[in-house]
Amino acid sequence: MIKDYQSQKELREAYDICIIGAGPAGITLALRLAGQGRQVLLLEGGGREYSQDSQDLYQCPSTGLEVYAEETRLRYLGGTSNHWSGRCRPFEASDFNTGPPVRLPGWPIAFAEMQRHLAEAMAIVDLAPNASFKAINASLDGADFEADRFLLSPPTRFATKYARELNETEGLEVFIHCNCVDLEFDSGTGRIAAIVVSDYQQRRERVKARQFILATGAIENARQLLNSESLAAGGIVTEGGLVGKCFMEHLNVELGTFILKDGQEKNSREYFTTDAFVAQHRAGKGNVAISLVSEVKTYGRTAAIKSFFENLICDIGVEQKIEFITKFDCPGDGVIGTLIEQFPNLNSRVSLGPERDALGMRKATVHWELSPADRDTVKSIGLEMAKCFADTGLGLVKLEQCVYDETVPLKLNPHAHHMGTTRMASAPEFGVVDENCKVFGVENLHIAGSSVFATGGASNPTMPLLQLTLRLAEHINSIS
Ligand SMILES: Cc1cc2nc3c(=O)[nH]c(=O)nc-3n(C[C@H](O)[C@H](O)[C@H](O)COP(=O)(O)OP(=O)(O)OC[C@H]3O[C@@H](n4cnc5c(N)ncnc54)[C@H](O)[C@@H]3O)c2cc1C
Repeated sequence: MIKDYQSQKELREAYDICIIGAGPAGITLALRLAGQGRQVLLLEGGGREYSQDSQDLYQCPSTGLEVYAEETRLRYLGGTSNHWSGRCRPFEASDFNTGPPVRLPGWPIAFAEMQRHLAEAMAIVDLAPNASFKAINASLDGADFEADRFLLSPPTRFATKYARELNETEGLEVFIHCNCVDLEFDSGTGRIAAIVVSDYQQRRERVKARQFILATGAIENARQLLNSESLAAGGIVTEGGLVGKCFMEHLNVELGTFILKDGQEKNSREYFTTDAFVAQHRAGKGNVAISLVSEVKTYGRTAAIKSFFENLICDIGVEQKIEFITKFDCPGDGVIGTLIEQFPNLNSRVSLGPERDALGMRKATVHWELSPADRDTVKSIGLEMAKCFADTGLGLVKLEQCVYDETVPLKLNPHAHHMGTTRMASAPEFGVVDENCKVFGVENLHIAGSSVFATGGASNPTMPLLQLTLRLAEHINSIS
């Protein structure tokens, strides 16, 4: 049953499980756990529709690179699934077998743990059973890039799809306009004794449960932990600890422009770095999307330029080709966008700013920062892709200067994929949650969502976070 906390103060004294946040992660968990006979409370801070009062609670300035944290999240029932695009690409075995080339470890769990839940996660986002992840184009000849494989969800809007279940599932109570504003940690028991919830007039009350799960998205999950004075007093959240650190995004770098050679099909293409490329360059992974902005022109200046290039590339070596390609100054026929892995980085973080929101919680600030290793990834992908274009006869690329010259700021946008702020690790010196998504040092607090990602790969996060959410539901069910 969905109730409105603004007018219905009908919370029970205690529940088996309290889940905070009704986006894809929270809704998935709530339905699974209530379906197993647990008394579950699902709290949503927003209403059934978008409202400015709720969205304003997401105000979050960026220092460093711009994250657009207010625009890239939605704070109402269904969460950011109310405007996600639905691109689904699973993690790969190599995401779990190889740690990042920085001083932090990779995933502490095996890839098989993700795979166990793939089929169910696919069903949740309405991908056909047994559908295989498909390429929209042929592979490039060569060892560095292969055709990318993905599927598109309709995209599933979680609040719409699961409206009936949220209303009718026995054992499940959903309260909208019910904002979690504090987590009360009891150092004596090592447990969260209660959380504090508030309506929009700051009328507050405590809610008790045996298990609590934060599912408020990667920025808010960290913010909730950082805001709790009792977690700080209990030594769970410390300045030297990892809460909020390693904020990661997928890098949307404009690599440059291109002209396709005559005879090449004039359609969009998507490529993905091979494991061999990643190992050879000690680079992150990356999707490279080739989009035509207009039909390739076969006349005038562009035609002359193309024939010039065609003749030239037979005569000069690779290094010269790349140098020539990167310096060449002509309008392109299409643009090359990317979705590139960022490595975990302690300086890239969510922290608390001095201001408070309308409910009295300190606002978060995101400082998004890239490391030299990330610049190297962008450069390797850019240069190798330009080389592949030329070598395979696909076309010719003019790279943006920022791709190969680190002194020039990158032309970069975020992808709205927030990750890593409560990373999973085998020990507290490397992360915030353990292999079961339980917060280190707190017996009954777990975290769902992409904040637990140890590394982000170059796969869209929602389907993988659902795989982990299903695994978490299994774990909570086994301990409660
Ligand atoms: C424009 C856009 C396009 C995207 N496209 C893709 C894509 O193609 N593929 C992909 O994989 N991902 C995509 N994403 C990312 C995707 O939307 C997120 O990965 C996903 O929504 C995360 O789910 P979540 O449940 O962890 O968090 P959210 O969806 O953010 O849900 C969190 C919920 O918690 C609630 N909440 C927050 N604070 C509180 C509080 N204090 N008390 C109570 N409730 C609270 C919020 O209201 C919200 O309902 C896209 C994102 C955007 C913005």
